[in-house]
Amino acid sequence: MTTAILSALPEEQGSLVSALEHPERIEHAARTFWRGRLEGRDVVLALSGIGKVAAATTAAALAERFAVRRMVFTGVAGGVGDGVQVGDVVVARSYLQHDMDASPIFPRWQVPGYGEARMDCDAALSALIFEAAGCFLATAGGTFALKDAAARPPRVHQGLVASGDRFVSTAAESQRLRGDLLAAGHDVLAVEMEGAAVAQVCRDHGLPFAAVRTISDRADDSAHVDFPHFVRHVAGPCADAIVHGFLRLL
Ligand code: SAH
Repeated sequence: MTTAILSALPEEQGSLVSALEHPERIEHAARTFWRGRLEGRDVVLALSGIGKVAAATTAAALAERFAVRRMVFTGVAGGVGDGVQVGDVVVARSYLQHDMDASPIFPRWQVPGYGEARMDCDAALSALIFEAAGCFLATAGGTFALKDAAARPPRVHQGLVASGDRFVSTAAESQRLRGDLLAAGHDVLAVEMEGAAVAQVCRDHGLPFAAVRTISDRADDSAHVDFPHFVRHVAGPCADAIVHGFLRLL
């Protein structure tokens, strides 16, 4: 039963590739896939690339060419929900595409052909990810270099994550995005650029999907400074710890 572990950027993949036992490198669809064993489990590691189309291409290859049985996405995201701070972890309960808008033919955010805006993550898989993330923060959370000395220890949140082909990098855009969605009953915790696409591909293929995102920035006017710093220094160790912990729980 092979598990796919996806990340958007090489830094988010951390040192998972070098930890693989019996690593096999496979080039396919202009991407590099790594098959091997991690924590005694069969895995395929892949970079989704940035954005929904790149992520969907990778996810479709994992489903069809590699016949994986479940997919897990690890990476970073911008926090938009109240109290979702840099260094916190968000486990997705469901996903929507914040830039999907076929109105007035379909309600705003609804994915045409699917009858709804949200794609749910697999509850059982997400519960394991949640547990792994909690263990990680409990043991290593204090090591986060949070800028704000008064900041509370990092927390794990679970809820709705929104994906779109935009790096959200102003407070005005982040507030508008959150406010518009909230008015329609969608309380978004974080934004990123890939997860909803992978959720949709997994739904099409009947594959369980879970996603965990460490908050690299607040999707505000300092996001362009916070994001690269976090990706360079924190994202890799977070992904390593959460993925290893998750595979041990599996
Ligand atoms: N120039 C950057 C581009 C990264 S885009 C680079 O190549 O290093 C941002 C990535 O981090 C995406 O994969 C997205 O999923 C996630 N992300 C983090 N913060 C985000 C934000 N505020 N808005 C959108 N995506 C964000």
